[in-house]
Amino acid sequence: MSNAPRSTTARRDWGSNDSNCHIMHVDMDAFYASIEVAKKPKLRGKPVIVGGRERSVVLAATYEARALGIKSAMPISRAKVLAPQAIFLDPDHQLYGHISNGVMEILRSVTPALEQVSVDEAFLDVSGARRRLGSSLDIGRTIRAEIEAQFSITASVGVAENKFVAKLASTHAKPDGILLIPQASTIEFVQCMPVGALWGVGAKTQEKLRQWGIEEVHQLAALDLSALSRMVGKAAAQHLHELAWGRDGRTVETHRKEKSVGVESTFVHDEHDLDTLLSKLLVLSDECSTRLRRKSMQGRTVALKVRDADFNTVTRSVTLASSTHSSLTIYHAVRELFLALPRQQSVRLLGVRVENIVSSSHQPQQDTLEESITGFALSQDKSDRVMDDIRAKFGRKAIERATQTQARLSSHTDNIYPLSKTTPSRTRG
Ligand SMILES: [Mg+2]
Repeated sequence: MSNAPRSTTARRDWGSNDSNCHIMHVDMDAFYASIEVAKKPKLRGKPVIVGGRERSVVLAATYEARALGIKSAMPISRAKVLAPQAIFLDPDHQLYGHISNGVMEILRSVTPALEQVSVDEAFLDVSGARRRLGSSLDIGRTIRAEIEAQFSITASVGVAENKFVAKLASTHAKPDGILLIPQASTIEFVQCMPVGALWGVGAKTQEKLRQWGIEEVHQLAALDLSALSRMVGKAAAQHLHELAWGRDGRTVETHRKEKSVGVESTFVHDEHDLDTLLSKLLVLSDECSTRLRRKSMQGRTVALKVRDADFNTVTRSVTLASSTHSSLTIYHAVRELFLALPRQQSVRLLGVRVENIVSSSHQPQQDTLEESITGFALSQDKSDRVMDDIRAKFGRKAIERATQTQARLSSHTDNIYPLSKTTPSRTRG
């Protein structure tokens, strides 16, 4: 569910020449919410919000709910104030994953040149498929029809000459539409947007540009590079200048690599007890390390996320001397990060993430000097693996570290779910 800025004038017919438009962005409409509606057709036409329990945030909402002001990542409590009449549902990630796989299978049958961006979103390069399946526009229509026929949910499709413009096109095709931006219309299309539509322009950059009176892409495009560099820095200026002229050199990455593994958990009641918070960090570190080992991955950067009762979120990270998948190493790192933060008021949410991950087979774990002397790393790794084995046989709760038992008793939520593995600034829709 995207909160990306949209331009009302951009949703129109831009022409029908798709000959140079071989990049397609397919994005499911209100994915989780649409699946719920498909499952229970009596929900059709109603405001439906998927978002877990009281303390969670909105993960998806039908367009009827969005019309009431519901946005992605909004706290559920706020959504309940804005739309008390809406139907609130817990997420069924297993079902969503299953349908996501089915949708990706449909896309893969069109072309193997597929880059899955998230559970409900993918780029396709259809240049190799056009001879077999027709024009880009034909292929886009076929994909939409096939997804709707199989799953009774809709996808919107953007067709353009590059990824940035295709993604912008699918955003403006929503809901349940297809939008082609012919090569000849690319510049006009991009330049009718607000600057927030440019990939990488978040609230901070928007504010900087606004101070200079730059609010529209056409204004930004008209600036010379040195003037733009003074506003946003040299690297960002180059990038934004290219996008403002509809240029994007990124190719469809067929083998997209996972870059991080993370888990987070929201407390049922805001928590301020230090022992409870640290115990929760241990649980999350352990969950993170289990996932890494399951994937035979390890990572060097450990990140902590803390959200307080007022919804202020801070993230801190540290890069270790060597990569790891050990629960205790991850825990020690996030603990240090946590204790270094200014004294918290109550904490609403904690998250632990390991970034810069690589395959364990390519990256034999290198012990630190201290670890080699004490044999600490080896014994720690062994203990992690023994725990994995026992849990695989007898279930997650069969064995816990001593402090985890306390964490489980004091925090009444097991609402641990994977974070999005894609760009941090936008949430999906
Ligand atoms: Mg979507």
